[in-house]
Amino acid sequence: MEIYKENQLKIYNSLSKSKELFKPLTEGRVGMYVCGPTVYSNVHLGNVRTFMSFDMVFRYFLHLGYKVRYVRNITDAGHLENDADEGEDRISKKARIEEIEPMEVVQRYTLDFHETLEKYNFLPPSIEPTATGHIVEQIEMIKEIMEKGFAYEVNGSVYFDVLAYNEKGNNYGILSGRKMEDAIHNTRTLDGQSDKKNPQDFALWKRADERHIMRWPSPWSDGFPGWHLECSVMSTKYLGEQFDIHGGGMDLKFPHHECEIAQSQTCSGEKPVNYWMHANMLLLNSQKMAKSTGNFVLPNEILTGNNNILSKAFAPSVVRFFNMQAHYRSILDFSSDALEASEKGYYKLMDAVNSLQNIQTSKTSSVDIASWKQQCYDAMNDDFNTPILIAHLFEAVKIINQLKEQKATITADDLAVLQKTMHAFVFDVMGLTNETKQDSSDKIDGVVALLIKLRKEARDNKDWALSDQIRDELLALGIQLKDGREGTTFSIN
Ligand code: AMP
Ligand code: ZN
Repeated sequence: MEIYKENQLKIYNSLSKSKELFKPLTEGRVGMYVCGPTVYSNVHLGNVRTFMSFDMVFRYFLHLGYKVRYVRNITDAGHLENDADEGEDRISKKARIEEIEPMEVVQRYTLDFHETLEKYNFLPPSIEPTATGHIVEQIEMIKEIMEKGFAYEVNGSVYFDVLAYNEKGNNYGILSGRKMEDAIHNTRTLDGQSDKKNPQDFALWKRADERHIMRWPSPWSDGFPGWHLECSVMSTKYLGEQFDIHGGGMDLKFPHHECEIAQSQTCSGEKPVNYWMHANMLLLNSQKMAKSTGNFVLPNEILTGNNNILSKAFAPSVVRFFNMQAHYRSILDFSSDALEASEKGYYKLMDAVNSLQNIQTSKTSSVDIASWKQQCYDAMNDDFNTPILIAHLFEAVKIINQLKEQKATITADDLAVLQKTMHAFVFDVMGLTNETKQDSSDKIDGVVALLIKLRKEARDNKDWALSDQIRDELLALGIQLKDGREGTTFSIN
């Protein structure tokens, strides 16, 4: 397939802090690694935004005709409660609280992740490796780092020696711009009890204490690998010691990606990644959406409207459109009003796309489709600028409306270009689906969500009779409400 305008795409590289012309290591091919979720809870809409940004990047490369190997991992071990290598493993903790096996936690939330991404029309990555499937390779990489003199063992745990790394002319801080003193400040443990030689060192392997259920044998102890190490191992294994693109959310720049660079660079002697891409955060109530603070919306709640901050249910493509209206490097504020505005724009776009079949053609065009098409590519080639792309798509909506009202003319060839380009950007690149009408099951979900909201209001007013009436009459219709800690959910029998 023809590669459209190779050498035109510019990507903002977090490493050089500038837009650079994209030059793949191998012509016509792209290797991309994106840090996947830690599967200890349901993904929230913020997580979905970051993965959606990289889904769009993946889709655009495919559209341009590149052969892409897209690796997105599943973190199913080693991610501790805080970034200073302290606290319990997030998955073990959940397993302990719920009294289930850690692998049951992993299975439950991996399934939830996959179901969510399918509902939101994601393309699956080429490879989705798990950390626990690569323990052997992680042990090998630790040995290599130790042989090179950049790691040391204390009490069965192994730490990366940041000072030794810097003394050999490397720069721990090259990506995040953090100075060593800041790093020390940020990683100092509260009680000062640590096996580390220096507080900025980070764990490659941790000895498991007796409470820690997820453990593997190693030359140093029965223990588990560090979270940063797993991404270095899996990216190198599937993409090589040097690859094109590494992505993740902004909050992973430090320490996660900084540590990845140090580990991989130590082993290969090369800079591992050519373009570091970081997607910005989704905010709710002006704060980062996060599970830990309770400030989040679940992707499923959007589809049912079952969350007090939502005025109603929304289709997955409306959320996609909402995300694409912001540049991936800009923060984005979530609100029900903002989704409603996106919904209007989305349906306007779909109406125009759907009416393209019914346009009459003429011998001449009064509209310049070739330069419009070029502008769409120029927007995407400027660091995947989807908001500018959308502005151009709405210029096409205007053109389509003029054509419908016979206030403009178009040749058959130009109409074919308009149709093909609209379809390519709307469906293939942005990943929207054509949801012209909500089907009746969506409507039922919306109505039940509304009744749940009214029932909550009744309960807040201590109007128990009305609240019971809503519950009982829904039950008589085969719709059962369940009150839980995170609100009321329902099932339809
Ligand atoms: P985690 O499972 O915590 O490792 O997060 C998975 C991905 O979601 C990472 O790339 C994070 O940077 C990203 N992420 C977490 N919170 C947000 C947010 N509020 N907005 C956008 N991305 C986020
Ligand atoms: Zn990672």
